[in-house]
Amino acid sequence: MFDVIVIGAGPAGMTAALYASRSNLSVLLLERGAPGGQLNNTAEVENYPGFDRIMGPDLADKMFRPLEKFGAKHAYGIVNELKDLGDYKEIVTDSEVYQGKTVIIATGCEHRHLGVKGETEFAGRGVSYCAVCDGAFFRSKKLLVIGGGDSAVEEALFLTQFASEVVVVHRRDELRAQKVIQERAFANPKISFMWDSFVEEIIGNQMMMTGAKIRNVKTDECHEETADGMFIYVGLDPLTEAFKNTGITNEDGWILTDELMRTNIPGVYAVGDVREKHLRQITTAVGDGSIAGQQVFNYLEEQKDK
Ligand code: FAD
Ligand code: NAP
Repeated sequence: MFDVIVIGAGPAGMTAALYASRSNLSVLLLERGAPGGQLNNTAEVENYPGFDRIMGPDLADKMFRPLEKFGAKHAYGIVNELKDLGDYKEIVTDSEVYQGKTVIIATGCEHRHLGVKGETEFAGRGVSYCAVCDGAFFRSKKLLVIGGGDSAVEEALFLTQFASEVVVVHRRDELRAQKVIQERAFANPKISFMWDSFVEEIIGNQMMMTGAKIRNVKTDECHEETADGMFIYVGLDPLTEAFKNTGITNEDGWILTDELMRTNIPGVYAVGDVREKHLRQITTAVGDGSIAGQQVFNYLEEQKDK
């Protein structure tokens, strides 16, 4: 039986594991992939205090390394279920069942799909959700980037180092991205914007996508835009399928907590992007993680007194 089981090794989960293990608690950190979470899909981070700029995977490595030093255990596992058994919780993965006195959920979210014709067909054949992973395949090519948030605009900028041309297709005439990122994109000669427009269909041949049917929401006109690739950044959905029967999420699947990261199940906490919150950033994820890592210690001390 572990004192704490942390589910998800992104910035929030790694920080929670660090704080809990530094409090001398036995910690198991469960992750279904490589530690780092979204950091592994991020080219450069330049808003994490202490670093002018740092590659996402490098920051992930720096967060992960100290965990072993403080005795946190790390295991691979896809968590499918959380069972609240009162004094302790059971975590069911695809291959094991673990017991923990407390649980910290840090599963983050995943990219949303556009849900248009051709998206599944051309995924991996021109359609991508990860510029860091696939950008280099598009040297001197024309790319479409879909979305108007931080991810779309920042990754469009990243893609200009490979692509000859990047067209950002956004459904409104105003970006949601932070102003500093917007200004950089407006000043980049390789980036242009297709406003008030949405992708109706992704088209291609037997090998690759070759373009998209794009409709203007104001004029209702539809045209075919040729392109060699498309990067889709239209928001995120919470990864909470495993917890849907526990009553800790809202109707959209985000986990509700108080400011101490407590869910409505005693001993179960949630941190980072998976929470219902206003600002989903690395800084806020690590802030949440530190609070929960400390709180599990306080909770276990209180339980001893009962
Ligand atoms: P995540 O980083 O999403 O980590 C969650 C982890 O949980 C993942 O490793 C996942 O594999 C694991 N997991 C999920 N479900 C399960 C399960 N069932 N079982 C086991 N493991 C599971 N923020 C910034 O501050 N600066 C930036 O420059 C920046 N750039 C970004 C660029 C992109 C393209 C994106 C998408 C986001 C960016 N962000 C940036 C946001 C930032 O990455 C997130 O806010 C942060 O990673 C959230 O951390 P987290 O630990 O809550 O979740
Ligand atoms: P987001 O902020 O939710 O933006 C999603 C964008 O996609 C919005 O512009 C939205 O349009 C558009 N969109 C949504 N559904 C669509 C659809 N079906 N068709 C076409 N367009 C659609 O998501 P995100 O950009 O991935 O950012 C997620 C979180 O990570 C945010 O909290 C963000 O701040 C953070 N992040 C931070 C950084 C950074 O700090 N440098 C970088 C990346 C991400 P509308 O604008 O019209 O709603």
